[in-house]
Order: sequence, then C-alpha cells, then structure tokens
Amino acid sequence: MTGGVPILDLKRQYRGIREEIREAVERVFESQAFILGAEVRAFEEHVERYLEKGVAVGCASGTDAILLALMALDVGPGDEVLTTPYSFFATASCIVRAGAKPVFADIDPSTYNIDLEDAAAKITPGTKAFLPVHLFGQMVPLERIAPLCRERGVAIVEDAAQAFGSWRRIDEEIVRAGVLGDVGCYSFFPTKNLGAAGDAGMVVALDPARGERLKKLRVHGAGTTYIHEEVGLNSRLDAIQAAVLDVKLRHLEEWNAERRIIADRYRMFFNMKKLEGVVKLPVELEGNHHIYHQYVIRVPRRDELMAYLEKRGLSTRVYYPLSLHLQRCFAFLGYRPGDFPESERLSEESLALPIFGGLSPEEQERLVDAAGDFYGG
Ligand SMILES: *Cc1c(COP(=O)(O)O)cnc(C)c1O
Repeated sequence: MTGGVPILDLKRQYRGIREEIREAVERVFESQAFILGAEVRAFEEHVERYLEKGVAVGCASGTDAILLALMALDVGPGDEVLTTPYSFFATASCIVRAGAKPVFADIDPSTYNIDLEDAAAKITPGTKAFLPVHLFGQMVPLERIAPLCRERGVAIVEDAAQAFGSWRRIDEEIVRAGVLGDVGCYSFFPTKNLGAAGDAGMVVALDPARGERLKKLRVHGAGTTYIHEEVGLNSRLDAIQAAVLDVKLRHLEEWNAERRIIADRYRMFFNMKKLEGVVKLPVELEGNHHIYHQYVIRVPRRDELMAYLEKRGLSTRVYYPLSLHLQRCFAFLGYRPGDFPESERLSEESLALPIFGGLSPEEQERLVDAAGDFYGG
C-alpha cells in the first residue's frame, strides 16, 4: 500500500465517539447554561478523581492555566522563574506576562526535559518558582529537586500541557503529571492528547486554599458577584468544552495506551531497518509512564530528511525550531547563541513523527522505510 501519511488526523478518533459527543453537546444546548455550572463542575470532579489529588479549576486555555498558576503564587516584578528553553512559547511568555523574569537551564539531551542539575545550580535568592515542562508526554523526575525547592522557598508549577495522564513511580507510589509540585497546568487544545473542540485548559492546586483563590482569579478576582477581592482574568472553561472533555476523559486511558503501542511499533520498525545507529529514538526514563503526546526522534540532516519525506506525502513536524532564549521577543533577557548548547542542538535535530489514534502499522512502516531509503539503507 502506498500513499501519504498525515501528521495528525483527529477524524479517526472522533468516529468512535461521535454519538457520545453529540449527546453531550446537545445536553448543554438544552440547558442553555454556558458559563461554569454543572458541566464544568462535573468535569473538574472527574479530573480530581482521576489525578487522585488537588483542586481542579477549569480555565480558557493552557496558556491561561500557567498565567493563573503564577498569579496564585504571587509571582510578579522582581521575581525569577526558572524554566526550560526547549518548550512551546507559552511556557516562557506567561512568566513575562506575570511581570517576572524567565531564567533558563539547559536540557537533558536524551529525555529533552530540563536538566535538573543545571536547574539546581541556577536557583538564586530571587527564584520564586520553578516551571518544568513534561515535554512530549514524559515526566521530569521532580522528586529529585523538590526537596531543594522546598528548602529554598521555590514553588513548583508543572507545565503538564502535553502530559495529561502521564505518570511516574516514586517509591512505590504512582504520581500523575501535574500533581507532584504545588500547581499543575494542563492544555486541552484540540491537538493535545486530551483535546477539546476549541481552546480549553485547567489548573490543579494541591493546596485547597490556593484552589479557591484560582476559582476567584478566573472570574475577575471576584469572590461574590461584583465584589472584587483582587484583579483576575476572564478565563473560564466553557461548558460545551467541559461536556466534550468529560466524554473524552472516559476514553483517555485506552487512547494513551494506544500511543504507547504506536511508539513500540516505531521502535520495532526502526530496528528492523537497522536504523538504530543513525536515528536516536525517544528514551523513557526509569519509572516513567511516557504517553507519547509526540514521538520525537533525533536525526542527522534533519531538514533534508523532512523535505524528502514531505515529497512522498509523509508529514513530519519540528517541535521546536528555535530555543526560547533565542526568540526575538526575549532579546531583552540578554541570552546568546551557545548559552544552552543541548537545547540549540536539539532544535536542529528533532523530528516529530505522526502519532495519533488510528494510525496504522502500515502507515508507520511506510514512513520508516522512506527514512531508511533516505539514509541509503
Ligand atoms: C500547548 C501548550 C501550552 C499552551 O496551551 P494552550 O492551550 O495552547 O494555550 C503550554 N505549554 C506547552 C508545553 C504546550 O504544549
């Protein structure tokens, strides 16, 4: 069989849940209750049960989730927030939006996540929060730095936008991404592994009092209607999105398991083609349950390979082509090329392959075969 392979095809997953989604959306329309209310509360409760910890607060996007988390920790002007230069833009932009200064540490070249030794070395008396990203669906082993953060008074905000449902075994305990630190942030952007039918996000606070504060911050900082205790945002989770997400949450374990099966198949095909020496496959850290929000490999001559595949209708993507410390809008921070060599090297070598519900073994094999042809296999 020949033909193209898309980077993502959400229609395949939707076909299996079409009736459930239609019923849920219809229910919201019949109720005509679109802002907060029962649908949002039900989804939040189901997330709390799923995570087994924390107070869940639905909001308008993953970006707002990070901003709300920083606001709830009183991060502002004069504060430093330690984070990774290898992530989606919002991770760092929210720090700037909150009025604080992003401070970067380099990444671990095998997991692509922040290097905890470098991060520990960059904690200063001005560090108010640590903002690690569980990139591509794999958790940062936060228990290794949490005691130091606690000792130095540094709050931990997890950017779990790509890792809903991912977990890590820590001393016999299973801990899900987003509930290891003080506040966890999730995105339900349609392409995420738990995706809404538009923009949506969630913040989860471990401390119930902070959870209550977040519920005020998402409605203009109001405790009672029209009585404002502080200046917040207008950032609520839409009731229609909550209804859609509640349906999808019921299928999430099965969908995340499918992603792991797809990842195993890529490994098998790359090994069959004897490409292990050329292509670096994702590494799953001991104790981690990676959910492969993205399947990202490292390859030589990346741009050439990408063009070669694209010509054959095989779609790939680069997450991310430019490290955050080199973005023009952050030039005022004074970073230069060479400051984070691992992050910069990864942005030249990383390649995301298609991974989504319904991706077939034949499609995966076609892609790996073409990569083998490119490298002269
Ligand atoms: C998607 C994403 C965000 C932002 O989420 P939105 O819902 O698109 O605002 C933040 N951080 C990371 C790592 C992401 O992948």
